[in-house]
Amino acid sequence: MASQEPEKKADVNRVKKVHGNDSFQRMNFLYQISKHIADKNPALSAYYGNLIVGVAKKMVLKIHPDIKRQFCKKCRCVAIHKVTATMKVKRKNKSKTIQWTCDICGTKRNFPANEKHDHRLWLEKPEAILEVIN
Ligand SMILES: [Zn+2]
Repeated sequence: MASQEPEKKADVNRVKKVHGNDSFQRMNFLYQISKHIADKNPALSAYYGNLIVGVAKKMVLKIHPDIKRQFCKKCRCVAIHKVTATMKVKRKNKSKTIQWTCDICGTKRNFPANEKHDHRLWLEKPEAILEVIN
């Protein structure tokens, strides 16, 4: 078991790194710039949205649902109510949904919003957090 000891020492000195940290920072920057430019130039906002998806695909990273849900499925422009998209609450057979309609390409997106059901995503639940890396 002597061969395992140097490995253990190296483990202590190693700083924990997040896989794809540079890409996450780039995606964060692109997201902010996409949201900032949305009211002035929706096409440019959609371009940055496409870049985010491209970076995530290339590096095999997941986009946080809160951010992913803000982008239009089709044109990938940031959806901001009364600016680039329209939000409506729809009721159908006692179930409530929030409908987002993209003003640029017209794509509709529905999110469930019933009071009685727990629509939290797994990521929003406390058991989803295993470790916090600074
Ligand atoms: Zn769209």
